[in-house]
Amino acid sequence: MIKQLAVLGSTGSIGQQTLDIVRALPHRFRIIGLAAGKNIDLLTKQINEFKPRFVYFLDRDALARLANTEYEFLTLEDIAQHPQVDTVIIATSGKSGLSPTLAAVKVGKNVALANKESLVMAGEIITKEAKLNEARILPIDSEHSAIWQCLNGETQPATQLILTASGGPFLHYSPTQLNGVTVEQALRHPSWQMGRKVTIDSATLMNKGLEVIEARWLFDVPFENIKVLIHPQSIIHSMVEFIDGSIKAQLSYPDMRLPIQYALSYPERLPNPQLPRLDWSNIKDLTFEQPDLDTFPCLKLAIEAGRQGGTYPAVLCAADEVAVELFLSRRIKFIDIANLVGQALEQHQFIARPTLEEIMAADTWARESLAAGYRR
Ligand code: MG
Repeated sequence: MIKQLAVLGSTGSIGQQTLDIVRALPHRFRIIGLAAGKNIDLLTKQINEFKPRFVYFLDRDALARLANTEYEFLTLEDIAQHPQVDTVIIATSGKSGLSPTLAAVKVGKNVALANKESLVMAGEIITKEAKLNEARILPIDSEHSAIWQCLNGETQPATQLILTASGGPFLHYSPTQLNGVTVEQALRHPSWQMGRKVTIDSATLMNKGLEVIEARWLFDVPFENIKVLIHPQSIIHSMVEFIDGSIKAQLSYPDMRLPIQYALSYPERLPNPQLPRLDWSNIKDLTFEQPDLDTFPCLKLAIEAGRQGGTYPAVLCAADEVAVELFLSRRIKFIDIANLVGQALEQHQFIARPTLEEIMAADTWARESLAAGYRR
């Protein structure tokens, strides 16, 4: 059986790697929907190659001028919940993933989720809707895929989730050293090839904090039972501890195509000669250490925002997105990312049990209040 896939965010890093999987396994997957926001040249190429039935692009008229293939123009939400789509891959960046994720779970779709903001901002709402409508959320992030793979086949819940983190390019840096780091240094991740936003988030450890919040909702485990462990080699992608003290880990060469493929082929595993294998002759050590929360306060801020819940995670996400953008455009220092996020959380008027509208309003508030200080 050929699975019909829609990829939202097809021109981004995860989107492009998803299309690589489809190219490698055309007898199993077919692209019927593509959506992108910015890169029209790449989207046009993808439309010509995959000939999807449904397409979305932020600037509809610009796309109409370029793409001459037959397709139906739909919104992100309409593609996400279209009856012909078997699995929707949400690989958009930022809060644009939230609304299509919610649309998809409301109609009981399989949602392969790479977008972090959806579960961070509205984890409670999304997981409740998914349960109600028997939608399956298939995690694409390597850490959550690892935990998911470790849990498969177990009949009892995990007692502890251990999320591994590479530590990023600035592992073991002192606060003084961190003060002077450049955009180029921050974009040079030691083990993963990723988009710019998530690469900066990996350098601040914000990325790991967002993943802790996601894990809380994906696996229904309280925050106190989720640990973060620095593992610079990025070979163990995460671990799960059970009631008897036994620990399972998932290992592989760090390549996002493996967790993407597993989310698409689940519950099956498919052979794909393009996926690299671990070369044990090259692995000398697997090392572990505790994260330095004082030097990398973003991790602490994120876990605390997740613990408090309500509108805090939405403010965290929005403030981080603006702050990372300011850093990338060289208007603030690396260490100011954490400072700005911390300030936004402090100034926010918290709502404990927000509606979706209140979550979106908290997001808007954080963006505006932060950007207001940096207008030319
Ligand atoms: Mg990750």
